[in-house]
Amino acid sequence: MNNGTASLFRIVGVCAVIGAVIFGAIKIANKPDDCASYGGKIVIATTIVPLTSVVKTMVDDSFVVESVLPSGADPHEVTLSPREIHTLACAQAVVSLGLGLDTWVDKGIHAAGNDAVRHIRAEQFAALPGEQLSNPHVWLSPRRMLHMYNGIAGALATFSPTRSTLIEAHAAAFRPQLEALDADYAALGKLPQRDIITLHDAFTYMAGDYGLTIAGVIEEVPEDTPTPQQVAHIISILSTHPRVALFGETDVSAAIITVIAQDTGRTLHTLNSLEVGAADTDIYVRTMRSNLTELLQTLGGAQGALPNSN
Ligand SMILES: [Zn+2]
Repeated sequence: MNNGTASLFRIVGVCAVIGAVIFGAIKIANKPDDCASYGGKIVIATTIVPLTSVVKTMVDDSFVVESVLPSGADPHEVTLSPREIHTLACAQAVVSLGLGLDTWVDKGIHAAGNDAVRHIRAEQFAALPGEQLSNPHVWLSPRRMLHMYNGIAGALATFSPTRSTLIEAHAAAFRPQLEALDADYAALGKLPQRDIITLHDAFTYMAGDYGLTIAGVIEEVPEDTPTPQQVAHIISILSTHPRVALFGETDVSAAIITVIAQDTGRTLHTLNSLEVGAADTDIYVRTMRSNLTELLQTLGGAQGALPNSN
């Protein structure tokens, strides 16, 4: 790390943490460590899969972008292990979403003793003018991801004058993929059928931003079994609106939606909420294109030809 970067990044010299997380109360015992496993690279800790994916596109190999979402964990409910606390202790920057989804990282930062870390909360870039956000699933709208991408890249670039040009160049190279995604999602608003039912309330912004309507949500609280009244309500919608499409979620096993599909004789389609998965650099764009294809084919039938901008 050069002097310019050192003056702007918090350098954590002694930072290993061994701890235990018990029922949400984080108990940590510190011990000396020099974060040497990171080889002097700038460590950016991230939370959810889509943010990790896009932050990786902003940097080169003088950075380490490391997710602190435990492998396979549901971001709605996370318990951090000593491994993730150590990453947070060694991080110069943390990129999280906010909006009540990954606020567990705040406890982790505190437990790591790294309260001075630069913490970028993407929520500040996700709202449209005059909008108050509460639902956290903003990444499933490419338009909002584009806004968050620009905001995060700008914030990271301000950390280090010596690396700002690098980050801006990387962001400029990747940004067209998000812009193309946004443009291609606009095709949804032209479909004759645009009503969908989803497993949990993850696709509200995607629907609202691109002209779809959420006709119903099965799990009002993620992974909580819906009440018989909620199930009856969904079945009633499907029974009276034969063109409403039913979407479960990739990588989420929910027996209730299979039962609903069988009881109503409906095809069960799937979307990926990107809440779990390996946070590869290209997983965001790849998954969002897959979701778009599924939506166009399901709602548009033969019209659902996907414009391929990549
Ligand atoms: Zn969710």
